[in-house]
Amino acid sequence: METKQEKPAVPFKPPRLAASAALGTLNEIYYRDLANAKQQGRPVVWITSMTPIELVYAFDGIPFFPENYAALCSSRKVAEDLCKAGEARGYSQDLCAYALCTFGVMFEKRGALGDEGPPAPDILLATEGACMTHPKWWEAMQRHYKCPMIIIDAAYTVDSDTLSPRHREYYASELKEAVRLMEKYTNKKLGAAKLHEVVINSDQASALWDEIDDMRAAAPTPISQIDVFTCLFPLVTLKGTKEAVEFYKQLRDEVKMRVDNKVGFVPDEKFRLIWDMFPIYHNMRLLNYFAEFGAAFVTDLYGNAFSGRLNADDPYGSLADRYLSFFMRAASCGKAELYKKRIKKYHVDGIVFHSNRCCRCFTAEQPDIGCILRDELGLPSLMFEGNMVDPRGYNDAQVRAKIESFMEMLEARKYPKK
Ligand code: SF4
Repeated sequence: METKQEKPAVPFKPPRLAASAALGTLNEIYYRDLANAKQQGRPVVWITSMTPIELVYAFDGIPFFPENYAALCSSRKVAEDLCKAGEARGYSQDLCAYALCTFGVMFEKRGALGDEGPPAPDILLATEGACMTHPKWWEAMQRHYKCPMIIIDAAYTVDSDTLSPRHREYYASELKEAVRLMEKYTNKKLGAAKLHEVVINSDQASALWDEIDDMRAAAPTPISQIDVFTCLFPLVTLKGTKEAVEFYKQLRDEVKMRVDNKVGFVPDEKFRLIWDMFPIYHNMRLLNYFAEFGAAFVTDLYGNAFSGRLNADDPYGSLADRYLSFFMRAASCGKAELYKKRIKKYHVDGIVFHSNRCCRCFTAEQPDIGCILRDELGLPSLMFEGNMVDPRGYNDAQVRAKIESFMEMLEARKYPKK
């Protein structure tokens, strides 16, 4: 049977979100504040993802995420050179490319915009909650910058079901110890009212993000996966600020208007897909290639790792709950269960795994997850190799050929010719 896909001659151009302009402004303000932080007496705290950023804002500090910055370097096409600079200092190309790229920035004092890069940290703050690369990477940066470092210890539970009160209490006590050390290093007392305000802002931003995530279930789905990844910036970097809340209100309203008016990201949506895990920052447009076949990504777990509800009356306990139960900490069975729920809710036709070779902890399990979803739900999958930050090791022509075959197969399954 001939099932060859007809592709449009002109590459797909997605409708632009009006909220993108507000996002650009937030980005500019954040980087300006970061550059001026030291003059303004604000501590610059280099922080890992999945470390409670709320503590930094409660101290009126400014967080800097090397992971985010490596992503920026990648999208600005300077990451490969920076990774090579990290390798020249003895770090392996097999290392997490977020770390390798940051080492290039650190040793070369070279940033994403041809500048000197971010200001040096006053405090390094990390957790063992996400992966073991983080504490080792932070130790290497501590040897270079010789500033105070705080590592928040965390029990590694299999999933949120195995999270016991004992794990939660231990993590909450670690947070209190981190606060004690930050008071010492910043010479500032943490105000309960300020923490309360930051926690409320953080909770509201997450609640709004969850609303947006729910609306992606609409058919046609209202926003693209590129929009989702791009709009994560405030949820990662500004979580706990009023500005993040205002941005997500605007985005929620815009997405709702699209849903109410049945405006889709792909005009004639034929297929609904899941994107598994890390974006490819040096080639984000690959996501739109699927749209040329009428396919839209309708959900993912990665974006939701940064959201999570908090209770301002129990800041430490609820921070412990949030930062110990995000999905990345689940084992492959736990993740497959999360996907099964989403496959039903979002009416999914297939899943695409980006096998990000520099993050072994979150790619080793992808074949297992794919098998579980195929065996239990008959869900087809596509897997291809890449690197989220470093373009070396990624072959665009090969990946596009794989996508074309996958889309042909989906077409034949969903719309068989009579
Ligand atoms: S990409 Fe993977 S290895 Fe790198 S910091 Fe994130 S979880 Fe850890």
